[in-house]
Amino acid sequence: MSQTELKRHFIRDIVEGDIRDNKNGGRVHTRFPPEPNGFLHIGHAKSICLNFGLAAQYRGLCNLRFDDTNPETEEVAYVESIKEDIRWLGFDWEDREFYASDYFEKLYEFAVDLIKKGKAYVCDLSAEEVSEQRGTLTQLGRESPYRNRSVEENLDLFGRMREGEFPDGSRTLRAKIDMAHPNLLMRDAVLYRIRRSHHYRRGEAWCIYPTYDWAHGQSDSIEGITHSICTLEFEVHRPLYDWLLDQLGIHHPQQIEFARLSLSHTVLSKRKLLELVKEGYVSGWDDPRMPTISGLRRRGYTPEAIRTFCDLIGIAKANSIVDLPLLEDCVREDLNKRAPRVMGVLRPLRVVIVNYPEDRTEELEAINNPEDAGAGTRDVPFSRVLYIEREDFMEDPPKKFFRLAPGREVRLRYAYFIKCEEVVKDPGSGEVVELRCTYDPATRGGDSPDGRKVKATLHWVSAAHALPVEVRLYGTLFTKRDAGEVEEGADWKSNLNPKSLEVLTGCRVEPSLKDAAPGARCQFERMGYFCVDGRDSGRGKLVFNRTVTLRDPWANIKRAGRENE
Ligand code: ATP
Ligand code: MG
Repeated sequence: MSQTELKRHFIRDIVEGDIRDNKNGGRVHTRFPPEPNGFLHIGHAKSICLNFGLAAQYRGLCNLRFDDTNPETEEVAYVESIKEDIRWLGFDWEDREFYASDYFEKLYEFAVDLIKKGKAYVCDLSAEEVSEQRGTLTQLGRESPYRNRSVEENLDLFGRMREGEFPDGSRTLRAKIDMAHPNLLMRDAVLYRIRRSHHYRRGEAWCIYPTYDWAHGQSDSIEGITHSICTLEFEVHRPLYDWLLDQLGIHHPQQIEFARLSLSHTVLSKRKLLELVKEGYVSGWDDPRMPTISGLRRRGYTPEAIRTFCDLIGIAKANSIVDLPLLEDCVREDLNKRAPRVMGVLRPLRVVIVNYPEDRTEELEAINNPEDAGAGTRDVPFSRVLYIEREDFMEDPPKKFFRLAPGREVRLRYAYFIKCEEVVKDPGSGEVVELRCTYDPATRGGDSPDGRKVKATLHWVSAAHALPVEVRLYGTLFTKRDAGEVEEGADWKSNLNPKSLEVLTGCRVEPSLKDAAPGARCQFERMGYFCVDGRDSGRGKLVFNRTVTLRDPWANIKRAGRENE
C-alpha cells in the first residue's frame, strides 16, 4: 500500500525519540491485538492504522496477534472476519500471525518462574472474597491468609491446578505485590483462574486460563514488541504491566495509551454490537447501519476513505466524540473522484412527452465522471415515456423551489428542455400520477439556441428501458449524538433509531447498470453514492445501498424552514 506521511502526534514523537536514542537497537515493532469475540469496528480501524502505520513509517514491523485467552466468547469465524477486514483496509502482517493461546505453555513457565522468585502465590479465596478483600481507594486491602505459602507449596498447588485437581473458581494464582498499593490493580492481581471451558484452538488442553494482565504484557515481550499501544482505559494497568515484566526480567516493551475513538450516533463496543445482532435489531454484523468494518464495506465505504478518516481524527490523550459527518465527508470526497455517475430514480413519477413520437428511441451521450476525464462517456436511451423523481415536481411550489411545476420549463440532464403542460391525478386519492409535458427539439444536449435559461436540471430514466431495482436508504443507528446518553434506568438501546432503514422498491435505474457487480459503487446523480449490495443482489435482482447522500442545498433550505424567503 502506498503510504503518505502520517500526521504528527505524540506517539510518533515517542517513537522517534526512541529511535534517536537507539532504544531496542532502533527497532520499531508494534502489534494489533484483537480478541476474536466479535467483528472489528471503526474504532479498531483507528488502532490498525496507527499500529501498521507506525511500522510502515519507521521501516518496522507490525504483528497481528489474536488475544484469545477467554474461551467462552471466542470463535474461528471471528478470526476469519478480522483477517479479512484488516486485509481489506490495506494492511499486511505477512507471516506474523500470532495467537496468545499458542503462548499458554510459555506463560505457564513464566508463572512458575514468578512463583520461584517468591512473587506469586496460590490463593484459595473465591472471586467474591478476593474482590471484597481488595479494599477501595479509601480503604486498604487485606492480605490473603494464603499469601505466605512456601514456594514449594505454591509450585505443587499450581501444578495441580493445571492438572485439573481442583474445581472451577476454587483457587487462583495471584501476584504478590502490595495490598496497600494506591492502585487497586496492584493489590495482588489475579494471574490465573481455573475454568473448564472449551477453547476454540486449544480444545480441552487447559483448565487454567491467564487473565488479560498476565497474558498481554508477556505476549508482547515474547514477540519482541517495542511499543505496545493501547487505549486509555489501560493506563491504570501500566504499573502492573511494568511490574510483571520487571520481576521476570524479560524484554520490556513500552506501553503507550491513546484515546479510543467514539463516533456520534453509534456505539463502538463489541459487546453491544453483538447484542444488536443477536436480538435482531440489525440483520448481522455486516448490516450497512453497523459501525463495523464489514458493515461500512457493505454500505459502500472504501478503505481509502476509512484510512483518511483515521488520519484526520489524529491521536490524542483525551477522549471525545467524533461527529459522524466527518466520516461521511471522507467517503464522499473519495467517491467523488472515482465513482461513475449514472441516473437512477428512487420514487418514480411518470412523465409523458406528448410531442415526442411513440415509436422513437434515441441515445444521448452522458459523461461518466466530470472529475475524471479518462472515465469517458456512455449512451443513455431517451423515449416518450420517462420517470423523474417525485420530489422534483410540486404542483404549488414555494418561492425557492425551482424544479418542475405546472407551466414551468426545466432541463432533463443530457437531454432536452421539457415543459409541464398538464397534471394527471388519481380521481380517488387526488395523488399526482402523471405529468404531460412537451419537449423542445432544439434543446437537444441541454442548451437552448435562443439563450433561454432554466433554473433546474433533473435526472430521469426512460420507462421502457429502465431496470427496476430495490434501494435501501439509511439513517443513523441511534437518534442521539451521544448514543450512550439514556434516561436514568433506561436500556442502553432506548436511543435506537426506529427509522434507520428505509427500503424503496420499484426504483428505476438506467440500463447501463444491468451487469453491475456486487460491491460496485456509483453516484446516482443528485441522489447520493450507492453500491450494489453484495448479499441480497443476484439472479436478476439488483439491490443498492445508499452509502451517503450528496451535499444538498435544497434539503438545507427545507431544514432551515426558508422555502419561501
Ligand atoms: P470493544 O470495547 O469494542 O470490545 P476491545 O478493546 O475489547 O473493544 P479488542 O479486540 O481488545 O477490543 O481491541 C483490539 C485493539 O483495538 C486494542 O488494542 C484496543 O485498544 C483497540 N481498540 C478497540 N476499540 C477501540 C476504539 N474505539 N478506538 C481505538 N482503538 C480501539
Ligand atoms: Mg478487549
